[in-house]
Amino acid sequence: MRSIACCVCGTVFSVDDNVYAARLRDGKTFYCPNGQGQSFAESDASQIKKLKRQLADAHNTNQWWENHARHLRNEVVHLQHVAAGMKGRLVQEIRKGKPELL
Ligand SMILES: [Zn+2]
Repeated sequence: MRSIACCVCGTVFSVDDNVYAARLRDGKTFYCPNGQGQSFAESDASQIKKLKRQLADAHNTNQWWENHARHLRNEVVHLQHVAAGMKGRLVQEIRKGKPELL
């Protein structure tokens, strides 16, 4: 059990350890015996840690999309070469007199 003093009326009351840990983790509201809502504010260190994690995730996502875009650009260049080669072979076949290819 944890003892907590209500931040509004000052009443000291006990909270089960599991509930205390859960509210500390999720920031949800719990109530003093007089019905006043309480919640734990996220610490600056915790907010900074969370923001750093989000920044790292965003960086990784950005990196993935940049790699994907580079791969697609290479694929386009490759397909343009393939298409140019096919066009060249088709022109050669037509010049050899294979009108069925037209
Ligand atoms: Zn209270």
